[in-house]
Amino acid sequence: MSEEIKLAQTAKEEEVTLFDKIIAGKIPCSKVYEDDYTFAFRDISPTAKTHILVIPKNWDGLSSLFKAEEKHVDIMGRLLLACSQVAKQEGLDEGYRIVINTGPHAGQTVYHIHLHVIGGE
Ligand code: 5GP
Repeated sequence: MSEEIKLAQTAKEEEVTLFDKIIAGKIPCSKVYEDDYTFAFRDISPTAKTHILVIPKNWDGLSSLFKAEEKHVDIMGRLLLACSQVAKQEGLDEGYRIVINTGPHAGQTVYHIHLHVIGGE
């Protein structure tokens, strides 16, 4: 079984996203945090001094907030908890923004749900 197919099965979706490849180490990233459920890394094109993306390892069809269902409650809670950990780790004591771009009108480009942690200035 190919690595791509294994990843797709983990994600319970046919598609292997760019972010699945980052989690799998196939695309390099600057990782800042990881736990059993989530993974966080620096945005390649930061809009602030600190700009980190927090993603679920198993996105279970939650490609965007459009797709949110009851079964995703745990993933969504884990993502917010991870954002809080990341912010603490990054020393964002003066505050930060959490952004979830949803759909084309919000400029969402990667369809693997992700939270932007933006701060530091
Ligand atoms: P969206 O616009 O979908 O909310 O956010 C996607 C984000 O992913 C963008 O801010 C973009 O800069 C970031 N991004 C896209 N490709 C890569 C990549 O290969 N590596 C990293 N670290 N960030 C990426």
